[in-house]
Amino acid sequence: MNYNFIKMNTKGNFPIDKLKKVQTPFYYYDVELLNKTLDMLMSEANKYGFCPHYAMKANANAKVTALIAKKGLGADCVSGNEVSAAIAAGFPADKIVFAGVGKTDKEINTALDANIFCFNAESIPELEVINELAAAKGKVASVELRINPNVDAHTHAYITTGLNENKFGFSMDDLEKVINLIKGLKNIKLIGLHFHIGSQITDLGCFVPLCERINALQDQVEAMGVKLENINVGGGLGIDYENPNTNPIPDFKTYFSQFAQHLKLRNGQKLHCEPGRSVVAQCGSLITKVTYVKKGKEKQFAIVDGGMTDLIRPALYQAYHKIEAITTDSAVETYDVVGPICESSDVFQKDCKLNGVKRGDLLALRSAGAYGEIMASRYNLRELPVGYLSTEL
Ligand SMILES: *Cc1c(COP(=O)(O)O)cnc(C)c1O
Repeated sequence: MNYNFIKMNTKGNFPIDKLKKVQTPFYYYDVELLNKTLDMLMSEANKYGFCPHYAMKANANAKVTALIAKKGLGADCVSGNEVSAAIAAGFPADKIVFAGVGKTDKEINTALDANIFCFNAESIPELEVINELAAAKGKVASVELRINPNVDAHTHAYITTGLNENKFGFSMDDLEKVINLIKGLKNIKLIGLHFHIGSQITDLGCFVPLCERINALQDQVEAMGVKLENINVGGGLGIDYENPNTNPIPDFKTYFSQFAQHLKLRNGQKLHCEPGRSVVAQCGSLITKVTYVKKGKEKQFAIVDGGMTDLIRPALYQAYHKIEAITTDSAVETYDVVGPICESSDVFQKDCKLNGVKRGDLLALRSAGAYGEIMASRYNLRELPVGYLSTEL
């Protein structure tokens, strides 16, 4: 028995008869797994009084976000529309944080009108604009400074965000200057520091240097006589794309215990975090149908009706999604699983071992709940994929 065969035999639990009735391609969200994941996240966070804010950008499907809001999380938004969507989903405004390097006046006004918890500000000109717009409304905006801690998250270059070369946040060298500047901005209240070093972090040891960096910055800020109520360590906890069936829930326990152990929170200070992928990735699958099996000279192709417009991660980041042929148990064969889009990067997986498929079989692209549906496009004038909860089929 080879390794691939063993992997074949660990397929997810799918209600095949129900899925067969739905127009493909579509996203399928396993509500039971989502709820279990959220319960684990919240019980580990509650042990230490940490405050998780779900990163809306990972998946903003209204049905999914409503389930997340119900569990008591806040929301982390990166656009004005995400702020509005978070409120519509039921996240309390006073648990919403708003980050992003290019917040427009319109977006800042949306957030001010909603009375969100805070802005995670990324530059001096942004601070000046928030101050001005808050003044015009007679409000004081709470702000955390997003600091680029120059900590390497050992992840894909496109999703590393905490290095000096990235566009995000303030440089640590400018911290004192910025804090002094804020003292002159009457409509801004500094309430904390914010960090986010990258995404799909599987080496949890990466968070230790982040904690040490934060401890040093806290000493520096304290020496200036400034008290901060909040430390926000961002998101980034990775998931197991290889083994969604045997490892469906991320290791929130170790993740939170790293901060509890290594971060020196000051009296009364609250720790905030912004998990995105770790909350929603494993509960989602892209379900797609085999349109043709094409035998090439050296390869055979499973041409499916889903493509990079439905799930762009393989094309964009060379990301791996486990693929399962969920309507057949035929002997395993090797396929390049490709979409119908007119781009040679429209390949889900090369040399993929699948139970032998024929026209009409369904494939599940696993671990697609994060950065899947939300990144879909209409390129080639395709329909956007619809997302369904397991409870509504
Ligand atoms: C993308 C993002 C997150 C979520 O990251 P995940 O890796 O999905 O957990 C959190 N905070 C900020 C500021 C982000 O940009």
